[in-house]
Amino acid sequence: MFELGKSIEAIGILGIPYDADSSFLAGCRKGPAAIRAAMACPSGNWVTENGLDLEEHPRIRDLGDVELVDSVDPRTAIESALQLALKQNLATLSLGGDHSVTYPILKAYAGHFGPINVLQLDAHPDLYDALDGNRFSHACPFARAHEDGLIQRHVQIGIRTMTPHQQTQADRFGVEVRPMATPQAINKLDFSGPVYLTLDLDVLDPAFAPGVSHYEPGGMSVRDILSIIQNLDGLIGADIVELNPDRDFQEMTARVAAKCMKEILARILGNS
Ligand code: MN
Ligand code: MN
Repeated sequence: MFELGKSIEAIGILGIPYDADSSFLAGCRKGPAAIRAAMACPSGNWVTENGLDLEEHPRIRDLGDVELVDSVDPRTAIESALQLALKQNLATLSLGGDHSVTYPILKAYAGHFGPINVLQLDAHPDLYDALDGNRFSHACPFARAHEDGLIQRHVQIGIRTMTPHQQTQADRFGVEVRPMATPQAINKLDFSGPVYLTLDLDVLDPAFAPGVSHYEPGGMSVRDILSIIQNLDGLIGADIVELNPDRDFQEMTARVAAKCMKEILARILGNS
C-alpha cells in the first residue's frame, strides 16, 4: 500500500472504452481514443500551467485500455485493472467511458486504501437507486459505492439536476452537495486525507463542452475546473468520464478533457 507523499511510483493512465450503461446515448466508449488523440495533436504541447513538461515524463505511464471481453463482467475487468495498477504503487488516471465505470474504480481504491474521500464534479448527482431498471446505470454509481461503504466523505460540485429521489439518497448517504447555483460552489475544499477526483465533463457548460451525452446548461467554465484541480490537495487518483466524441464539435471537448488531464497529472505529481 502506498502512502500519500511517500511512495507513489508513477501515474498509470488507463482507458476504459465502455458505454453500455449509458441511459440516453452511446458513444462514450470512443472517449479514451479521442482524449489520447487530443493530447498527441501537434497543435499543442504537454506542458502544464505550472511549467511541467509531461511528454515522456518518467513518472507517467500509459497502461493502454482495459480489455473488455464478453466472457468477463465489465465491472470485474475494470476493478481488476485498477487493482493491478494500485498494487504496483501507481496512482491512476482513468479515461472513460460513461460514469458507471467509477463504481468498480472506487471498489479497487477502497480495497487498497479503505474508504476514501471523493470529489465529484458533475451536473448530475448519479445517486439513483436504479434508472430504467438498471442499478449499474451511469446514473447510479455513487449509490452503489455508498451501499458498499467505499466512500468516506463525498462532495459533489456543479449539481443542477437534483431530483427529490436523489435528494433523499444524498441525505441517506451523507453526501455534501454544492449546487451550481450557490456562490461557494467552486471555493477551495479542504479534505483531511487523500482524495479521489471524478470529473464528469457535463459539469461544464455545454458552451465549453458540447461533446457529452447530457446537455445541462448553466455549468462551469473550463477555468473553474482548472482552478478546482490546481487547488486540490491530496489527490491520489482521478477519472475523466462522459466524453462522447459523436457529439463533439471540432474536438473541442476532447481538448478540454486533455487539458484537465494534464493539470490532474501535474497535481498528482506535485502532491507526491
Ligand atoms: Mn455523472
Ligand atoms: Mn453528469
